[in-house]
Amino acid sequence: MTCNDCNTPIDPELGYHTTKSLGVALCDRHRRLVEKVIEENNTPKEAIQLFYALKDAGAHPMLEWWDGQKSVDIAISRVKLNIDVETAFHNITHEQAIHDLEEAMHSFKNGFTNIRIPHVAITHYLDDTVKYILGIIQGLKANLKVI
Ligand SMILES: [Zn+2]
Repeated sequence: MTCNDCNTPIDPELGYHTTKSLGVALCDRHRRLVEKVIEENNTPKEAIQLFYALKDAGAHPMLEWWDGQKSVDIAISRVKLNIDVETAFHNITHEQAIHDLEEAMHSFKNGFTNIRIPHVAITHYLDDTVKYILGIIQGLKANLKVI
């Protein structure tokens, strides 16, 4: 078993433990780094899983990227794509609803595309989630060329 980040061989017990708690097998150094990111940003476990799956797919993602207004879970900077993983589903307040719309406006004005992915999509369809995000990246790249 090896670390998903640096490919260092790791103890199977650590691999089991990190897969269970973080969604991916990590060495001790990367476990600590990822746990720090989670602690500072309240990053969902599914965002960690998706980050490493996108990294494997060659998409060059960044974890917890500051877009100038707020931290987004995953960013693909060369096509200005921001991805947030949603874990809580509840009726949002009217204040939250209008705030979300305002945020969307700022993002679009700055040329960013924001997508929100429910955590269950990642848990149950990680491969498809990655495939569709790669498709979105391709689409954004094509649009960037047109402009
Ligand atoms: Zn590592």
